[in-house]
Amino acid sequence: MDATAVEQAGWTRVGDHEWVRTERPAHVNLGLVVGTERALVVDTGAGPRSAGRHLEAVRLITDLPLIAVNTHHHYDHALGNHAFAQAGVTEVWGHPATIEALDGYGEQQRAEITDEDDEPEMKAASGPGTRIIPPTHAVTGGLQELDLGDHAVTLTHLGRAHSAGDLLVASSGVLFAGDVVEQGNAPQFADSFPREWLKVIGKIIALDEIHEHIVPGHGQVMSPDLVRGHYHRLDQAIRVAEAALDEHATDATKSIPVLPFGPIQSRYFLNRLKETRDEDV
Ligand SMILES: [Zn+2]
Repeated sequence: MDATAVEQAGWTRVGDHEWVRTERPAHVNLGLVVGTERALVVDTGAGPRSAGRHLEAVRLITDLPLIAVNTHHHYDHALGNHAFAQAGVTEVWGHPATIEALDGYGEQQRAEITDEDDEPEMKAASGPGTRIIPPTHAVTGGLQELDLGDHAVTLTHLGRAHSAGDLLVASSGVLFAGDVVEQGNAPQFADSFPREWLKVIGKIIALDEIHEHIVPGHGQVMSPDLVRGHYHRLDQAIRVAEAALDEHATDATKSIPVLPFGPIQSRYFLNRLKETRDEDV
């Protein structure tokens, strides 16, 4: 392994088997877990450009056959699937809700691509690697162990949170959390289940003795202590918003100034809190 090239490609080593590097768009964290027989790519980027760069970077670390997982269906995490498939990656894991979302409404994710994301071919749906394809393998029952050769990882669904199909990837002391945990950004609520999300973060915290390092979907690798801060912030926001919804049933937006997520995400948060009011368990 050429250490300088690995560093220049932006890789950070998180554990014995675990690596992460940041890609466009939105500084998404794409992960890698390496066994002795195969390696797992955690999220595939937003299209052929980011997937191509990531694949090149992966090949600086390992020549092993690759499999992949989509932590959820959002464009920056899953629209590189076709480019990876064209590079021979035929096994991509995902939650059934992620498969359903990409199968049924994948074009909505394409529409999210902005000019700054630098994926014009994907945006225009023209050229190699620009089809939207869902994961090929479903994680049913909320748990899937994958043997990479002398090292296993576990894909888990701890409940609906940032999306209906969030998968976490546990590998030794490292937890790749997808956008269930973001660092440096407000959480993204558009497809979220806020109350269930709080429970999922609570479960991640309960596992803090197992997972020393949390790799968020965006931002710096975190300690479980920092995730605790996210829990309290979301808990507090839900309380404030619930009270506002009760008090101003017709105009809960009055609670926006006291929510800690900024105006756009606060609005999504309130909407999703309302929409999921009766369906939450
Ligand atoms: Zn997301």
